[in-house]
Amino acid sequence: MTDVTNNPGEMTYHGTNTYIVDTSEGRFIIDSGRVEDSLHLDAIIDSLGPNPAGILVTHHHSDHFGAAPILRERTGLPVYVSQAFPDDAFQPDAFLEDGEVIAGLTVLHTPGHVSDHLCFARPDRVLFTGDHIMSWNSSIVSPPDGNMHDYCAHLKRLIERDDKICLPGHGPVLPHPQPYAKKLLANRMRREAEILEHLADTPDTVKNTAALFTRNPIRILRWPPNEMLRHILKSFSQNREWHRMEIS
Ligand SMILES: [Zn+2]
Repeated sequence: MTDVTNNPGEMTYHGTNTYIVDTSEGRFIIDSGRVEDSLHLDAIIDSLGPNPAGILVTHHHSDHFGAAPILRERTGLPVYVSQAFPDDAFQPDAFLEDGEVIAGLTVLHTPGHVSDHLCFARPDRVLFTGDHIMSWNSSIVSPPDGNMHDYCAHLKRLIERDDKICLPGHGPVLPHPQPYAKKLLANRMRREAEILEHLADTPDTVKNTAALFTRNPIRILRWPPNEMLRHILKSFSQNREWHRMEIS
């Protein structure tokens, strides 16, 4: 089952999805939602049933991880986060790494949106994608923690899988995710080519260049200059010319 955190907004669609998942080892929570939403927390606790087993975190953003510590306090359930989880102030019960299987769920480390991002795959080809693939919008990949090279690489990874549906951190169920992920990747590659073409002849600022690129076949609300910078850094890492970009 799903419950949605009460945090609708430009970046979150209707809010952040919390999933309650039955496994061979009990019932797991995937993403707790925000700590400020006490009604959402109560709904999660009410849905845990007689055999709750743990709290899985896709990544450290507060709308996904925020309530995990208090949920642990209220339920005694262990919290599982990525090995790359960046918050030293929080001590999880266990760290998860790519390829590990927990209660029948396979862990996929999918950095890009952020470095500690995880997806969770059920054996029946259902994939929980957090903010790596969302069904309502393109994911934000913002430096310093976001990495466009990693994001594209892990979009490719999901395209090569045979998941039949994705359950994202924001937005509705996404059936047939591969064509959608291909479209997301193609859109990124097209933008990158356009940016480089523009900069080949015209030295420009990040801000000005970002303003030129607003077209997108998949709905996007804005084109953050940080993401522009990340495309340029990705290109630089691939030995393309980037020296014409004046960063401001
Ligand atoms: Zn996020």
